[in-house]
Amino acid sequence: MIAASVGGTDATHDPGLQSWLESANDPATDFPIQNLPFGRFRRADDMDWRIGVAIGDQVLDLRRARLIESYDMNLIMRLAKEPRQALRAAISNGLQSGSPLEKQFREALVPQSRVELSLPCRIGDYTDFYTSIHHATTVGRQFRPDNPLLPNYKWLPTGYHGRSSSIAVSRRGLGHTFKRPAGQTMPAGATTPVVGPTARLDYELELGFFISRPNVVGEPIPIEDAEDHVFGVALFNDWTARDIQPWEYQPLGPFLSKNFASTLSPWMVTMDALAPFRSPFKRPNGDPAPLPYLESASNRDRGAIDIELEVWIQTEKMRAERLAGDRLTASNYADAYWTVAQLVAHHTVNGCNLCDGDLFGSGTLSGPRPDQAGSLLELTQGGKKPITLSNGEVRGFLEDGDTIILRGYCQRDGFRRIGLGECRGTVQAGRRL
Ligand code: MN
Repeated sequence: MIAASVGGTDATHDPGLQSWLESANDPATDFPIQNLPFGRFRRADDMDWRIGVAIGDQVLDLRRARLIESYDMNLIMRLAKEPRQALRAAISNGLQSGSPLEKQFREALVPQSRVELSLPCRIGDYTDFYTSIHHATTVGRQFRPDNPLLPNYKWLPTGYHGRSSSIAVSRRGLGHTFKRPAGQTMPAGATTPVVGPTARLDYELELGFFISRPNVVGEPIPIEDAEDHVFGVALFNDWTARDIQPWEYQPLGPFLSKNFASTLSPWMVTMDALAPFRSPFKRPNGDPAPLPYLESASNRDRGAIDIELEVWIQTEKMRAERLAGDRLTASNYADAYWTVAQLVAHHTVNGCNLCDGDLFGSGTLSGPRPDQAGSLLELTQGGKKPITLSNGEVRGFLEDGDTIILRGYCQRDGFRRIGLGECRGTVQAGRRL
């Protein structure tokens, strides 16, 4: 068996596992029995958000299945490795074909089409990183053609503290809807800024990692332990106003250009589920080796995660014509320059405390090729080279009514393909100032 030879995998990753739930065995589902991502949901008659696991086209209510007592996802996220993996094994066992628990579990299923989904946990603090060297180089070149990467880039994973209260979940239909933000911009050639709706609204293709176990303030997390502090991952869109950003961000970094809205997909795919899809983490020849606190044998052997990522656009006109939309980009998280273990080790090296539910944005995940750009800023070269969509519409940046859909999945020979679901958001006309 290939499964047995891959580090961190166990019986729950066996590609031969089948569920008594037919929709979980559909080759096209993002949520086969090998995935088991966590989220929060409620039915129309519920007061409280419940903890569920996506399976096929259903949600398994973990409390109703008598697997947990809690309604608090953050408590579940704080579980130590052994009870956490025991819970995963119990869910997997009960959902397997022939399980004696089938009847009990069937009574705990709710169709995904009938539930309301919430953000998957209480998000505390939110940090956005900048881990794609391809994104950093392409964007840096627009501002500093001869010197696109600043000297710190290859030595530390840089980031900024963002705003968690405006992060919303992707829902059915139009997903997370938000109004086009307004702000202050300095038009090219002008000497006085103006205020008004952004004319350069963009998306950023990112992953969001959720912190599981807290550390005590003053106690850094060594890189060897870092992944014990990460629960899982979802798709994340860090919407950005590209005209507000360059005028406001010097010298302190992003502010109102980003804090008006960010969108998360509803299901946290756990680090346990990702075990089969790990890759060696290598730097290009000639690049400096990370400092010792950012380096470990396991980070070199399997620090990267092979997640295929896609960005799709569906304009209002496409929606009216019942067109599914166009794919704008495909890239892979394994091309990032910093691993999630390095982000945790660096974030805490000064003693900063992380808490359950803290969110780390990966930064825009552009790949090495120009067509793998994770934002319109890169794809259209700052709006200078607009793209023509399949129905003839042209975009430099986003128009009102545009829906952006992020998708992600993992596949590897010898394992079942698993998906992250979808992160969908739609920009609406802004308020008049
Ligand atoms: Mn970002």
